[in-house]
Amino acid sequence: MNKILIIEDEEAIAELEKDYLEISDFEVTIENDGEKGLKTALSGDFDLIILDLMLPGIDGYEICKQIRNQKNIPIIMVSAKKDDIDKIRGLGLGADDYMTKPFSPSELVARVKAHLSRYERLIGSNQKQNDIVEIRGIKIDKTARRVYVDGEEKVFTTKEFDLLTFLAENPNHVFTKDELFREIWDMDSVGDIATVTVHIKKIREKIEYDTSKPQYIETIWGVGYRFKV
Ligand code: CA
Repeated sequence: MNKILIIEDEEAIAELEKDYLEISDFEVTIENDGEKGLKTALSGDFDLIILDLMLPGIDGYEICKQIRNQKNIPIIMVSAKKDDIDKIRGLGLGADDYMTKPFSPSELVARVKAHLSRYERLIGSNQKQNDIVEIRGIKIDKTARRVYVDGEEKVFTTKEFDLLTFLAENPNHVFTKDELFREIWDMDSVGDIATVTVHIKKIREKIEYDTSKPQYIETIWGVGYRFKV
């Protein structure tokens, strides 16, 4: 049974959507504020998210951005203001669809079904040809952008994933922080080599047994980092 998360502060609307989706055999969870919604979206195992734009706590823009950093499941954004929908379309936040309220619940169900089947086809075709980098206990699935440490999946942000993958694909090569920053971040992005240090620290927390004695990403003092084979 597909699991749907509705993040919507107008409870009557959320309940109506839920009723229609349940009739169509979906399992539905509702969160009424932004903060809880984001937390549930990131920790739960949902197949699709229906996300309202204006929410108490964290708004729909930010929630969409943060979910996209970690998950590629379909997101349908809804708003009462058509102008807002036009604006967010332009921002390229990575939502899959946009609907202006009020909409008919059956239209919502139809779109949910369409996005789920498209997404399942996408996942299905990926499984045949995933590009995998494997070094000792670490398995990086480049196609699905997922990382497993000793068989257990760990969640990485986009840049953490890119940095880890780059180092793992070039093992035994020492890179300076400057080189890593230029490789992973856009030339015009905000930040500096300290960003690299922060990301290495976060990656180590996810892949190392003991971050004070790293087994994978070594610090070469005064130079930079190296992925040990
Ligand atoms: Ca709202």
